[in-house]
Amino acid sequence: MSEFSQPQLTVLFDTGQIQARIRELGAAITRDYAGQSPLLVVVLKGAVPFGADLVRAIDLPVTLDFIAVSSYGMATKSSGEVRLLKDLDTSLRGQPVIIVEDIVDTGLTLSYLLDMFRRREAASVRVAALLDKPERRQREVEVSYVGFTIPNEFVVGFGLDYAERYRNLPYVAILDPAAVTEG
Ligand code: 5GP
Ligand code: MG
Ligand code: MG
Repeated sequence: MSEFSQPQLTVLFDTGQIQARIRELGAAITRDYAGQSPLLVVVLKGAVPFGADLVRAIDLPVTLDFIAVSSYGMATKSSGEVRLLKDLDTSLRGQPVIIVEDIVDTGLTLSYLLDMFRRREAASVRVAALLDKPERRQREVEVSYVGFTIPNEFVVGFGLDYAERYRNLPYVAILDPAAVTEG
């Protein structure tokens, strides 16, 4: 069966909807940062497809960097511990920074990154996220640029994985919970 049509997936946002929304977010960022050169920090791995499209929808001289973090296992996730797997190559001091995320769920990852980036004396830090799942929030975080707000469902595609699969789907879909085991 094709990777692109699977019975356990229910499409939430198709390619056309996602691309149209990313163009709107890019236009908003272009307006808000007029005259500036923001640094886009793409959070690996899930935000890569969104970041690649978003950066091309921004008509400003942006720069790009990447960071990788991981939450500890499910059992300890609520402790808020986040581990830095790959740091930035560049200094944040004095830079307007936009964190690019795939999804904001509990908010633990973002609150960790926001704290760290402020300690590093970024001039400003805002967040762009393809998806926002506010029902599960444990930390209050401001997301300035949201693609789509979604209900409390486990989604895959457009960067989002289940056990490292589905990241390449050109759409966002709900994965049938029967096909999901916690881990
Ligand atoms: P948070 O720290 O906000 O709880 O979650 C951040 C990370 O959890 C996301 O970047 C993503 O990797 C993962 N995550 C949260 N919700 C989902 C979801 O519905 N689907 C997938 N595939 N990952 C999710
Ligand atoms: Mg992420
Ligand atoms: Mg994942």
